[in-house]
Amino acid sequence: MKLHWQILIALVAAFAAGSLLGDVPLFIRTMDMLGTMFLNALRMLIVPLIVSAMICALLGIGNGAGLARLGGRTVVYFLATTLISVTTALVLVNLVSPGIIDGVPAGERLGLSADTARVTESVADRGQGDLLDILVRMIPVNVFEAAAKADMLGLIFFSILFGYFAARLPDGLMQSQQRFWQGIYEVMIRLTGLIMWFAPLGVFALVSQTVAQTGLDALLPLALFFGVVVAALLIQMLVWLPLILRSFGLSPLRHFKAVGPALLTAFSTSSSAATLPVSLQRLQSEAGVSAKVSGFVMPLGTTVNMNGTALYECAAALFIAQAYGLELSILTQFTVVALALLTSIGVAGIPSASLVAIAIILTAVGLPLEGVGLILAVDRVLDMARTAVNVFGDTVGAVLMAHLEGEQVLPGATEAQAAVAPPASDASG
Ligand code: ASP
Repeated sequence: MKLHWQILIALVAAFAAGSLLGDVPLFIRTMDMLGTMFLNALRMLIVPLIVSAMICALLGIGNGAGLARLGGRTVVYFLATTLISVTTALVLVNLVSPGIIDGVPAGERLGLSADTARVTESVADRGQGDLLDILVRMIPVNVFEAAAKADMLGLIFFSILFGYFAARLPDGLMQSQQRFWQGIYEVMIRLTGLIMWFAPLGVFALVSQTVAQTGLDALLPLALFFGVVVAALLIQMLVWLPLILRSFGLSPLRHFKAVGPALLTAFSTSSSAATLPVSLQRLQSEAGVSAKVSGFVMPLGTTVNMNGTALYECAAALFIAQAYGLELSILTQFTVVALALLTSIGVAGIPSASLVAIAIILTAVGLPLEGVGLILAVDRVLDMARTAVNVFGDTVGAVLMAHLEGEQVLPGATEAQAAVAPPASDASG
């Protein structure tokens, strides 16, 4: 049975088990243990994978013109798709007004007096989203510390520089660097294959635990907000991004099939960083994207390109304003859009990381920070959905960039090809 079907079955079973066995402590503890083991196994690969993928990519890209072309296109794609997703949220929230129930701001009904301590606690330790801070954080003081802290931005910055200069070493030295990093990259990809054997079990454990702990009751008062965010995410995932693929002659269906397990992993783990190994493996093996392109686009995309997160930030800020009964001017709404776009760049690919960015937006447009308390109840579940959209946006970007680089993507990809395709051939040209 195909992996995505196995994971889907695990997902459905997890919903059933989570709601039936949610009160059994032994079940919760076992699921917690299994889920954490699966997550840790994926996270274990992130650092060596990012570094080796980026360096291999830079060695493959070779000259400065190639880097400028791929980098330029990638940045344009990231910005354009994030803007589309944020605008979708802006329009939907204005049309549906989930923060206003029966003509009255929903704040009081939702118990607006959320306590500040809880909000502060929930936004702490989620990474930083401050705009200028992103630039400062980009340069790591110590690469090993960056690695130890899984500081993706710092690692990427270092790896790009390393790869750029490694590609300019004299012949013998350059080749030995290439072989070394390609070896590490290939081992990581193969390890990901091994971990994905356990994906159905890992997904079952993670999701059943979430279902058991969240409970449907918490979602009900916020059903409208929940529905608007899910609808906007679906539009981004099923309409806009597939349209982009189509307009370049690429099949969205094939793309979904190729990256399905990565999307399901993102959904279950709520972490695009933890999903990176799976995304890279699927892009290489099923979508036929070279290590050169996927190694460049995916680590970068995982760190800075978050369609779902930006969309959610915008929807949440506007919803909170509505719930407080505050009319936001068009100008303020555009400020929210711009801030959602910019702060999503600094959001870490870990669970609930957007809460800190939402806090920044609220403060910037003069809304009370406690507003975050309104959405906490649905955040966990919406996190799963937006993380899947984040990862989907990155994979579409990788496939598109590979297509623009003249690679044969999606149509020709077969499993057999995948298993043997060494990044060496990609990296050399
Ligand atoms: N959990 C998201 C991710 O990993 C980030 C967020 O929106 O909280 O992509």
